[in-house]
Amino acid sequence: MVEYKIEIERTLCIACGSCYSSDPVHFEPDQTTKSTVVGGIADENSSAGTFNDEEIEAAKEAQDSCPASAIIVTEQ
Ligand code: SF4
Repeated sequence: MVEYKIEIERTLCIACGSCYSSDPVHFEPDQTTKSTVVGGIADENSSAGTFNDEEIEAAKEAQDSCPASAIIVTEQ
């Protein structure tokens, strides 16, 4: 098990859908189709949540494929 945090800089998000299409465990769209962290907190500017499981690689792949570099994944 790995504890890790996912943050989304929602001001940078262009709502391309890549993260929540490839990794719906961690990412989901809000009403505007900008991404938020599943089960996390969110406001207009950012969203964040922590996880403790074996799925960090999926989150990192979403981070790497985000065209806006809006996703930050950090191990705790
Ligand atoms: S991949 Fe990046 S730009 Fe695309 S919806 Fe997710 S956070 Fe937004």
